[in-house]
Amino acid sequence: MVVMLRALTSTIFPRVGAVSWRRYSAAAIPAPNTRPEVHFNKLFINNRWQDAESGKSFPTINPSTGEIICHVAEASEVDVDKAVKAARDAFRLGSPWRRMDASDRGLLLSRLADAIEKDAAYLAELETLDNGKPYAVSYTVDVPNVVKCLRYYAGWADKWEGKTIPIDGNYFCYTRHEPVGVCGQIIPWNFPLLMQAWKLGPALATGNTVVMKVAEQTPLTALYVAHLIQQVGFPEGVVNVLPGMGPTAGAAIARHMDVDKVAFTGSTEVGHLIQQASGGSNLKKVTLELGGKSPNIILSDANLEDAVEQSHFALFFNQGQCCCAGSRTFVHADIYQDFVQRSAERARARVVGNPFDLTTEQGPQVDEEQFQKILGYIKVGKSEGARLMCGGGVASDKGYFIQPTVFGDVQDNMTIAREEIFGPVMQILKFHTLEEVVERANDSKYGLAAAVFTKDLDKANYVSHALRAGTVWINCYDVFGAQAPFGGYKASGNGRELGEYGLDNYTEVKTVTMKVPQKNS
Ligand code: NAP
Ligand code: MG
Repeated sequence: MVVMLRALTSTIFPRVGAVSWRRYSAAAIPAPNTRPEVHFNKLFINNRWQDAESGKSFPTINPSTGEIICHVAEASEVDVDKAVKAARDAFRLGSPWRRMDASDRGLLLSRLADAIEKDAAYLAELETLDNGKPYAVSYTVDVPNVVKCLRYYAGWADKWEGKTIPIDGNYFCYTRHEPVGVCGQIIPWNFPLLMQAWKLGPALATGNTVVMKVAEQTPLTALYVAHLIQQVGFPEGVVNVLPGMGPTAGAAIARHMDVDKVAFTGSTEVGHLIQQASGGSNLKKVTLELGGKSPNIILSDANLEDAVEQSHFALFFNQGQCCCAGSRTFVHADIYQDFVQRSAERARARVVGNPFDLTTEQGPQVDEEQFQKILGYIKVGKSEGARLMCGGGVASDKGYFIQPTVFGDVQDNMTIAREEIFGPVMQILKFHTLEEVVERANDSKYGLAAAVFTKDLDKANYVSHALRAGTVWINCYDVFGAQAPFGGYKASGNGRELGEYGLDNYTEVKTVTMKVPQKNS
């Protein structure tokens, strides 16, 4: 069965259309193979597939069924050491990678984007199998945005310029933007392919080498991309990809004395550990993309139908597993009851089920642990007195499906209004004035994203400037572009990814000052 994407975007995923997929609007979604073959399940070190030194492996699970897809080699500290040595060697002065012209680095990234695009359907199938996200989303959002991200950074490779600086005296002073060196990159399971691209793009464009640990829940697509990295011609050791566990392989990267920088995306809890590991080892540079409890503020003059739909998308997209999910929906008192009713209706209509079915909007949560954690939060929400408007339970007798859940009458001090749930559970709070809602929205340890819905430009400007968040959307949500930076204030992280700002984190700035003779002697 082939479904035209244009029809799909306007009916099933009206808001997903915002996430930059214009290029694909005329394309069709090919019928997915629901049992894509797994070709790679070992460690990728020095452009070679290797078993773990310990011989250990771990199962990766299909979250729709709870069944094992395959076993994957499990990296431990010795494997991390091997990968870091390979990356260090690839970075040595005079190596093929260090001697490569910047434009050729760009070309390799561009070829990688082409190779991923060529295998888009297979990668989307594998992503859906391993992660559980709807195939229509993997194919039209995740994979195309991976391609765009890599192409965007391919373009930067020979454009990331230093400056000439007019210091006092007779000197020629300029800056060079040099790679940081060996970069450890630890990525999560909610957007496995996309997080890999967000990390590889800027690191490789600026000439670094990489040791990447992928999430234990979703190792498969990253390993296939590793194969493509080798195929398009990246020199040995430039990119090394290790499946493994956080407390062993991840922690070994974070404390490694020969890793120059670590970039981490995941929970704030582990973010603390990564920063501590840097402090306890070689003070490697640390960038962190962590959790959030993002406020989504609906003023009384907003287009109600649109605000309900977009707030639904803001929370439920990707099974609610988004660091920037609009998980505190603040609604003005004048429209509160109506908004809550409509949001519950919309959530009840959400199509939950087999992620390979092209009509599915919501697949399973990524694993049993997340599934239980979310059900626990729903219980706490009810016991703390929030009003359950719909959902609240398990949506299938196998796999990790949860009913789209909406809570009304949520108060600021409730656990479900303070902690990141990372699941399909919406919290709707009531407010009366703009000043009040800004103060309450900012009263969180997090500061990743926020949104405001209004037709009043003055109010939109007031709120967007007053919010302490790295991204503010006005009358839209989850609109990303490889060109625009993303990252958090406060406990939501350090540093920015994407855009030109994303290059800073992968660059050392070197000042070179040369004496200029006053006259020819
Ligand atoms: P997590 O533990 O923070 O996982 C993120 C990555 O960090 C994974 O690769 C993980 O490895 C690794 N890791 C775990 N412990 C580590 C350690 N001590 N040192 C170095 N690396 C380590 O997140 P999770 O347990 O999967 O999910 C828990 C919560 O985190 C979620 O409920 C959600 O609130 C939040 N989360 C946020 C994001 C985001 O995009 N900001 C993404 C995922 C989760 P493993 O593969 O072994 O876990
Ligand atoms: Mg899995």
